[in-house]
Amino acid sequence: MSTVTEALERGVFLDGEVQPVEGDTLTILNPGTGELVGHVTAASAAHVDAAVRSAQQAFGSWSPLGYAQRGRVLHNCAEAFEASVEELAPILVAEQGKTLRDARIELHKAAETLEHYAGLAKEVRGVSVHGLDPGVDGRVIRRPLGVVAAIVPWNFPTTLLCNKLGPALLCGNTVVAKPADSTPFTTLRLAEILTAAGLPPGVLNVVPGTGPLAGEALVTHPLVRKVAFTGSTPTGERVAALAAIGSKRVTLELGGSDPLIICDDADLAAAASAASMGRFYNCGQACLATKRVYVFESAADEVIELISAKAAKLRLGIGIDPKAQLGPMHSERQRELLERQIAETLAAGGEVTAGGGRPDDEALANGWFHEPTVIVDPPRDSPMAREEVFGPCLPIWRVNDLDEAISLANDSPFGLGSAIWTGGLEAAERAAAELDCGYTWVNSPTKVYDELPFGGVKSSGVGKEHGSEAFDHYTNLKSVVVKRAL
Ligand code: NAD
Repeated sequence: MSTVTEALERGVFLDGEVQPVEGDTLTILNPGTGELVGHVTAASAAHVDAAVRSAQQAFGSWSPLGYAQRGRVLHNCAEAFEASVEELAPILVAEQGKTLRDARIELHKAAETLEHYAGLAKEVRGVSVHGLDPGVDGRVIRRPLGVVAAIVPWNFPTTLLCNKLGPALLCGNTVVAKPADSTPFTTLRLAEILTAAGLPPGVLNVVPGTGPLAGEALVTHPLVRKVAFTGSTPTGERVAALAAIGSKRVTLELGGSDPLIICDDADLAAAASAASMGRFYNCGQACLATKRVYVFESAADEVIELISAKAAKLRLGIGIDPKAQLGPMHSERQRELLERQIAETLAAGGEVTAGGGRPDDEALANGWFHEPTVIVDPPRDSPMAREEVFGPCLPIWRVNDLDEAISLANDSPFGLGSAIWTGGLEAAERAAAELDCGYTWVNSPTKVYDELPFGGVKSSGVGKEHGSEAFDHYTNLKSVVVKRAL
């Protein structure tokens, strides 16, 4: 495995290659050490325009290819990506902060998603309706949309992009991607790898830059036909409003505050492990993460002890340290936000049973580290319950029964994922039917499958990614009526 030893200097990825750095630049620092990772062009409206026009031109030759042919290209891309995981992992660690282990998990998963869509290439089907009238048949065909803007945040720069790239490209669209302003380098290198593997120039362009400038220039560009956005709820709502001009298609994968219910007949050790993994993976910076635990009173003491012990044992370290289980938070802003949420919560009540603040370790003093933290029974109207907590802090509430657990779980502005741990079929079925969100895991770690549609309700978003359901969001359905001579 290589490491990032020299500062990276990269520009916009246009027409199959990274351009030299020009114009305004962004400085990228390692969240674990504060060291310089490199500089990247902060794309201007002119850069975005060039990227969109290049993608529009490439659409002319990419969209007429058959699904099978595009699938072959995607398959080659997935293979090349998989073969490059060890090269990409240190770049992802350096700019994002996550541990090497989490970086590898992310990168393998992203490559797998491309492979998944490559595998679906020969499975895309339409519908036909015979005998609409005498001698008249109808069929419904899928047509690609055109240029898709793919805007993603910094927590999983590659998986979140590939969730969009897979279905978008297979369906014949071309893509202009905008990574978060703090995580451009893995995406730029990945674009080079995919191009070398056979993705034609212009089919994927990348504009690193800020949200207000590059992001808005992309969303409002008249040639962009769809905006596939992943990020926070307030930004997603603004993006949707901007995309309304020109009636662009929009999918929004937004924030979440996933509940996990633990019944007293559950395998408590397994449930505690799932809660700990679900909350502290990626340093708690995941949309789909266990952000609230509701445990039956009779099992509460044991569960609280198990989860708190797990949190206390997690080993913090800079991402590249192979022993690190929890990296830094991504930025100073994210840590301050978490600290504000914890302070406001504790001022109103709740008991800290693990962690609580910054680690007392000189070796970590230059990074944005925060201890894995557990808070028991904070007030039910505190930030722990009402806001998205995007960091390593898990609130646990005691509840009397399933009715109370489901009612509190649903009492949230968000509706992304959810989980229940129980030995009983009835509780499992009730959770599946009644939890108001896009995913429910029963006695299962919160793993996302490419085969299943994923997407939230309420303030967690609109539309689906993953599964063949994603095709509906990257194609227009068109009805064709054919009359035979009778
Ligand atoms: P963010 O909304 O601030 O930024 C996301 C992306 O949008 C970045 O690329 C950013 O540059 C861009 N952006 C910002 N302002 C913009 C604008 N005005 N116009 C166009 N683009 C703009 O999100 P964040 O805080 O960086 O990311 C964390 C959030 O993302 C959390 O809320 C998390 O839950 C959410 N998220 C959701 C999912 C999901 O699939 N539902 C997955 C991962 C993260």
